This record gives sequence, C-alpha cells and structure tokens, in this order.
Amino acid sequence: MAAGELVETAAACDEADELRAKRAEFVLEPETVYLDGNSLGALPRSVAGRLADVVEREWGRGRIRSWGEAGWWTAPERIGDRIAPLVGAAPGRIVVGDSTSVNLFKAVVGAVRIAREEAPGRTEVLVDAATFPTDGYIAASAARMTGCAIRPVAAAAMAEEAGPATAAALVNHVDYRTGELHDLPAITRGLRAAGVRTVWDLCHSAGALPVELDAHGVDFAAGCTYKFLNGGPGAPAFLYVNEAVQGRFDSPLPGWNSHAEPFAMASDYTPAQGPVRGRVGTPDILSTLALEEALRVWEGVDIAAVRAKSLALTDFFLRCVAEYGPGEPRLRSLTPVAHERRGSQVALVCEPAEDARPALEALAERGVVGDFRHPGVLRFGFTPLYTSFRDAERAARALGEVIR
Ligand SMILES: *Cc1c(COP(=O)(O)O)cnc(C)c1O
Repeated sequence: MAAGELVETAAACDEADELRAKRAEFVLEPETVYLDGNSLGALPRSVAGRLADVVEREWGRGRIRSWGEAGWWTAPERIGDRIAPLVGAAPGRIVVGDSTSVNLFKAVVGAVRIAREEAPGRTEVLVDAATFPTDGYIAASAARMTGCAIRPVAAAAMAEEAGPATAAALVNHVDYRTGELHDLPAITRGLRAAGVRTVWDLCHSAGALPVELDAHGVDFAAGCTYKFLNGGPGAPAFLYVNEAVQGRFDSPLPGWNSHAEPFAMASDYTPAQGPVRGRVGTPDILSTLALEEALRVWEGVDIAAVRAKSLALTDFFLRCVAEYGPGEPRLRSLTPVAHERRGSQVALVCEPAEDARPALEALAERGVVGDFRHPGVLRFGFTPLYTSFRDAERAARALGEVIR
C-alpha cells in the first residue's frame, strides 16, 4: 500500500473514532506525536486548575480542617472506587497510595502469609521471569522475609510450574518490554487450582484494556496510575485486595492509617476492615487529588472501546512500519501479532542495537516521542484516549526515514 493510501486510511479511522473528542481534554501540542504514555501519561487539562484550588483554598485557607471538610482523609478509597470499574473490581476493593513497588511488597507478603496459614509447607514464591526489575527485587525480598525460596518462571508456564510447595505467584499482566499480554484468566485459574495465591501487576494494563479482577478471583493486584491512567509523575499507585481475602490480609506495613481507629492512638494494632487495611501512613494529598482529577477523563468512557481502539491503532502502526520501515532484520517487532496476546504498545528491535538510541533522538527531533529499553528496543505506547491514527502513521513514517 502506498503512503497516500495510509494517510487516507488514518484520516478515515480518525473520523470514525468514537474516542476522538477525548484528545482535547489533554495538554498535547498538535504537532507532537506522544507515544510514551506507557511511561508517563499526558496531562489532563483540568488538573492544573484543580491542583491550584487544592493548594490555595483547601491547604492555604482550610488548613487542618480540610482533612475532613475537603474529604482528604477518605480520598484513598474514594479514588480506589473510581479506578475499580476500569479493572473489574466492585467498590471497596481498592486503595490508592504509595508506589507500585511498595504495594507489590504488601501484596506478595500478604499472599504468602495467607497461603502459609492454610498450608505451612508452602515455601516458594514464583515470579515472572521477564518481570520489570522492581517486581523481581521486591518479590525476592518478600520471599526472604517470609522464609520462602524465589523461583523465576515464564508467565505462561506459571500454572504448570506451581505445586504443593508454592505459596504465591507474582505475574505481570503485560510485559513492559515486549508488550505481550499474558492470559490472566487462565493463569489465575491454574494457580488457584494449585492452591497458590496470585498477585498481578497491572502497570501496563490498567487503563489500556479490560481487566476482570473480581470475576477471575485474583487475590491481589497492584499497578501504576501515572501510565495509562494519566495521574502525573509519581502519582500514587493502587492496591486491590479481593473481598474473599480482605479479612485475612496481614499487611507487612501496618501503619497507623490502616488501624481500625487511627485516632484512638492505641498501642495495640487492630487492622481496619476493607481496603483501608492496605494503607500505611499519611496519604500524599497533592498527588492523590491530582490523580482524582485526572481520572475524570474516564467519565463516560467504555474500557471495551478503549481496547478496540488500542488494537486497531497497534495493528495500523505495524502495517505502516511494514510499509515505511527497512524490514527485517533491521527492524523487527517483538510484540505478538495475535490480539489476545497484545497489550497497548509496540516494541521494535533495532539491528544493530546501537542504532536504537540515535533513532529515538532523531524521532524526537521530528516530534515523535517513544522510548528505549535495553538492548536496542524501541517502545511505542498507544493511549487510545489521545493517540490518533494520524499519529500512528506519522510516527511510522518518521521512523522509516530515520532508520533508512
Ligand atoms: C512502571 C512499572 C513499575 C514502577 O514501579 P514504581 O514503584 O512506580 O516505580 C513497576 N512494575 C512494572 C511492571 C512497571 O511497568
């Protein structure tokens, strides 16, 4: 297909796109093609005004009263309930706060403690072998602290590898490097059948595709809000705890905010019920309320429509790369072709690998922003709320020019 036809196809797809109007809700220059929303989502327009209001009015004039009057104290669970429909959770299952790393720690230790209460002989933690580094480091430490061994296993083989000695498994829903989507329903089912408690990392799926946590009986999940949820740099992460294990969740970080009566200032710890138990200390209110405002862009958005557009965008981008690019082996896609195995990004390997960084720099000069992952991987994230088909075509064309 010739370039002109791809430009026309892009225009027709944009015309038919039911999410098209959402882009105007973000701060994005028309000439920029931002394909790095899987590292840091773009800024929703209304956040700046809301943050100024929080600082000037709620903090500046309300001061200590704002913990109650402005709803600061209850914000972590209130915002958790806003994320809930995007990940298939009922209200009362999610709390926001801390980083993903910290929430993974709470979840892995919590999962192991529950598993061992049922069967003390479970002394092994499985971790996704291709995991994002922080997950691996945290899981190893959580295993060491709970007297378990850690064993890296490919996500797809988790259920087969799990056995009577396995306590918990930490799995990534979407591989951060390749963009491969793992089969959460089947892996969870297999692990549950082996009596293993599951912890899913949703950093690259929350806000990008439907996740059905309650329906599939996931025990724990955690994820970032600064990627596809556009919460802002370092925005608080979320922690999901299935209702069936909420009452048995023994957090390794039982800070005073997770106490049943924090203001009783009791010397004995009594955990709160429900999602509050996932808290640690005082929430970071400025970032938390910026996230709450950022989540308003999801009002009226159907996550199934987001998924449909994400797949159409990545399909189209791959088609444009095939047309404009130098072909294999100079540029090869690591991202699965099958829709059921693809997240919302396309990862291309450059050969030679040393070409990757300069290619990204040259792309940035042309207004196309992607990112680099070691060694030689170009990563392009597609955020259906603000990425257009025209963006995909422009990015692939610029990439072809740069690599050739
Ligand atoms: C982005 C990402 C993280 C980041 O964790 P932080 O604690 O927010 O730094 C963790 N895990 C995965 C899979 C990620 O993609």
